[in-house]
This record gives sequence, C-alpha cells and structure tokens, in this order.
Amino acid sequence: MENKVFKFGGASIADHKMIENIRSIIESYGEDKIVVVISAMGKVTNALEQVAQKYIDADKEKPLLDLMQETIDKHLQEAIALGINTEKLKLQYESYISDSQELLDLIDNTHQAMVYDQIVSLGELFSTTMVEMYLSESGLNSTWLDVRGIIKSDGNYKDATVDYATSVPHIRTKISELFSDSQYIITQGFISGSDTAYTTTLGREGSDYTAAIFAYALDAEELTIWKDVPGILTADPRRFENVELLSKLSYKEAIEMTYYGATVIHPKTIRPIQNKSIKLHVRSYINPSEDGTIISDQGLPNYPPIVVVQDNRLLLHITTKDFTFIAENHLSLIFSTLDMHRIKMSVMRNTAISFTLVIKNPGKPQLQKFMSDLGDNFSFDVYDNLQLITIRYAQQPLIDSLTKNKVILFEERMKSTIQLVVRPALELKEKK
Ligand code: ASP
Ligand code: MG
Repeated sequence: MENKVFKFGGASIADHKMIENIRSIIESYGEDKIVVVISAMGKVTNALEQVAQKYIDADKEKPLLDLMQETIDKHLQEAIALGINTEKLKLQYESYISDSQELLDLIDNTHQAMVYDQIVSLGELFSTTMVEMYLSESGLNSTWLDVRGIIKSDGNYKDATVDYATSVPHIRTKISELFSDSQYIITQGFISGSDTAYTTTLGREGSDYTAAIFAYALDAEELTIWKDVPGILTADPRRFENVELLSKLSYKEAIEMTYYGATVIHPKTIRPIQNKSIKLHVRSYINPSEDGTIISDQGLPNYPPIVVVQDNRLLLHITTKDFTFIAENHLSLIFSTLDMHRIKMSVMRNTAISFTLVIKNPGKPQLQKFMSDLGDNFSFDVYDNLQLITIRYAQQPLIDSLTKNKVILFEERMKSTIQLVVRPALELKEKK
C-alpha cells in the first residue's frame, strides 16, 4: 500500500482561510490517498490547559460545558466562515464534551494529569471534526477517524508511551478499510487511547510524532510536515537574520538538532521513520511549491553552522556538604530525583565534589521540592534567567558574535558541537 501521510499543525488551521488552503494543498495531489494528521487550532491547546486548571480548581462545582463555551465559539466562528453546517458541528462538539464529562465524573480531581488529558484532547477532536466536515461538504471524498481507537498507549497521562505492537496492526487494518471508499482520512495528532475508556496525550507538540507513527505503520512513501517556515533553517528566523534553508538533512543531524532544542519538529518524530527509511519532507504551507527540507539517510556533505537558542535555563551547582567525592551513588540519586520530578537536563558536568547541570527553569516551588528531595547532604547554587546556546559546526567569528556582551557561565565542547550557557553582561547606565 503506497500512500502519503501529511501533518498540519495549529498555525496552519488557525482560521478559515488557512483551512481552505489545506484543502487546496491536498487536492493538488490528484488521486493520491492521504492520511491527514491535524493538531488543535492555533492557541487552543494553551486555552484548554487553562480550562483544565479551572475545572480542577472549581472542584466539580462547574460543568465542563460551561468552561468550554469560548473554545466552542471560536471554532463555530470559523465554521460559519467556511460555510459548513454549524448546527451539526455544535452537536458533535457537545457530545465530545459530554463523553469527557462522563469520564471525569468517575474520577477524583486529584488525578490531575488524567483530568488534563480528558479536557485538552478536545482541541484535536474539535479541529479535525471541523476540517473534515468542511472537506466533505465542499465535495472532497474524506472521512473522519478517531485516532484513539487505533493508537494505543500506556496510562502515563500527559506523556503517554505508544504501544507499537498493538497500534501498528490496528492502524494498518483501519486505514486500508477506510481507504477503500475514501481518498482522505482526517485524524488527530497528539492524542491516543489507553486500554480503558480514558484518553491519553503524547506530550505537547506531539502531533508530528503521531504522523510519524502512521507513516511507520503504513510504510508510507513519504511523510510531509507542513509548516509556516520554508523548511528546516540554520536558526530560528524569529531570532536571527540571514538564516539559511537546509535543503537536506540526515536523520542523525535532525535528531541532534531536536535533541539540542530545535523546535521545528518534535524530537520523537525521526526514530520511527528512520527505522524504515521513510523520507520526511518539511515544507511551507504558505508557499507549497517550494522544495523545503528533505530528511533522509542522505544529508549534506558539509553543514553550515546551525544555532539553537533556549531561553529560561537554570544552572544548578550541586556540592556535597562534607566535601566527599561526587560518586556513583550521588549521581544515581541526582538522576532518579530528576526523573521523579520529570526535569529534563540539557547539559551536565561533574567534578570531584560538585555536579553542575543546566535545566529548563521548572519554577520555584518545583525546584525547592527537587532540592529538598535530594536530601541534606548537598548544598546548592542556583543561577537563573540564562540562555543556552548550542552551535553545531561552529566557526569562531560566529561564536564571538553570539557571545558579545554576554557572560559565559558554562561551556562544553564536543566534536562538532559547542554549548554555551550565558547571561547578559552588566552594562553601564548612560549618564543623564
Ligand atoms: N495541539 C498540541 C499542542 O499544542 C499538539 C501539537 O500541536 O502538536 O501541543
Ligand atoms: Mg506543532
């Protein structure tokens, strides 16, 4: 079965014009059968995170439907502009909400991650239902698929792990059945089904990963991720001038880039497609005729410098109070405590009596909790508001220009990668 998998993210369906654009992109592929994986409309997931918090805070005093009005209205407004049957759409939305409500009624609000998933997943159900209705009503042969029936995960809410052994055969059977009468299958990214009736999610920005799972299961000829940028660039164009498009990238380079924090594709996306040598095409939905970036076994012979910047980093310097050596037992305690708090490390280094690590700032309360869970044998120095700059294939003038007027707190050099943890230098105030 040769077919294509496309993924469209939140920005690409942010309003009715964008949704019309998706229609014209998929139509331009003629007779091709396409699985279209879609995330929630732009900003909706963030809004639903707040709804989930409000639902938890209201302690079951407020029905979910009341808290969802704004989100429903936002979708209906675009639906009106698309000219689709909004009555039918509204009923469908209400039925998704009442399904979630029924499940929420059976659990205690202390299961926060579980509550979160039942609410935040509505974003993808809403967006895909609207897009599919529009495609069908405007004459395309499409069908809507509830991904939760075929992508199965464990019960680790908010960051579920996909069970490939169960999901892959489900995906194959269901997709080939649906393709026998439909040309386009519209389904949700980011969400999955646990082995109970409860919905799980795969972690923020997880739709790319969903699309990769489909490509893997279907042995797709290609996976295309449609973005608001021309492809994968040498740096974030919102931050830097003169960024360059990387026309080709090896799987390995793509994994390295996402590991170092490049957000253009989700870090988990590459592995499944690399496994089967499926090409990943990252290209612009704004200029769909441009080539974009192809990620495959074959990268560029020479890469230009690639820069990834991460803000809001925190450097934590951990010392043993009795000045004993930092040994394996200390390290394993530090690692397991990090894992327990789900704090991910970006860079680390150990010396005889200290261990330094750089993490995304988890916020004061969580940091305090982390430090107290490590116990009394350690003392801590904390430096926050830092930037972590990673440069691959760096050249000295570039390093100099990126660190100008900055204090370098930490530096790590490996073969083709330099990582710098920096903070703005003190500057003299101009005299008045
Ligand atoms: N809608 C989800 C999010 O905003 C998943 C995704 O966009 O990939 O995180
Ligand atoms: Mg995204």
